[in-house]
Amino acid sequence: SSAGSREYKVVMLGAGGVGKSAMTMQFISHRFPDYHDPTIELEVGYLSMLDTSLAEFTAMRDQYMRGGEGFIICYSITDRQSFQEAAEFKELIYRVRHTYDIPLVLVGNKIDLEEFRQVSTEEGMSLAREYSCSFFETSAALRFYIDDVFHGLVREIRRKEFSL
Ligand code: GDP
Repeated sequence: SSAGSREYKVVMLGAGGVGKSAMTMQFISHRFPDYHDPTIELEVGYLSMLDTSLAEFTAMRDQYMRGGEGFIICYSITDRQSFQEAAEFKELIYRVRHTYDIPLVLVGNKIDLEEFRQVSTEEGMSLAREYSCSFFETSAALRFYIDDVFHGLVREIRRKEFSL
């Protein structure tokens, strides 16, 4: 790629319905119609874990996960089951990549639905400590902290590159 231009392969992991598409759309539509930051371009791969039967879509899943430079693990703060699934992705990443040293961000989405919250902020922080990654609570609906997620991940990817 040309000087100053760089594409990042980001893999979104999370149960169906947690807001992966909404987050991505908000990030991209926020940035690209108004101005173009040539230093950050994202190629986003989707992986929707509709259930925990990991046998399904294995080839596609492994292909995404092998190509990913960084992972965004998403759950919804209104869906405890999605939080439990979020905790399982570490093993999945390890199985595909054979290391835990992968740029990673944990995201609890839908904070605009505070009255339906099933997962506390403290629980999210605790899982992020387990993952040794940064943690954001977001609202894709209101575009709260969405940029922080993607920029945080890009920072992680760069930090890892420079430390090699
Ligand atoms: P995905 O399956 O993870 O890609 O989830 P989607 O992005 O398709 O979102 C699933 C549903 O949740 C859609 O109806 C979205 O409009 C809604 N949704 C996504 N993010 C938010 C959010 O931050 N707040 C609220 N209230 N709804 C959201």
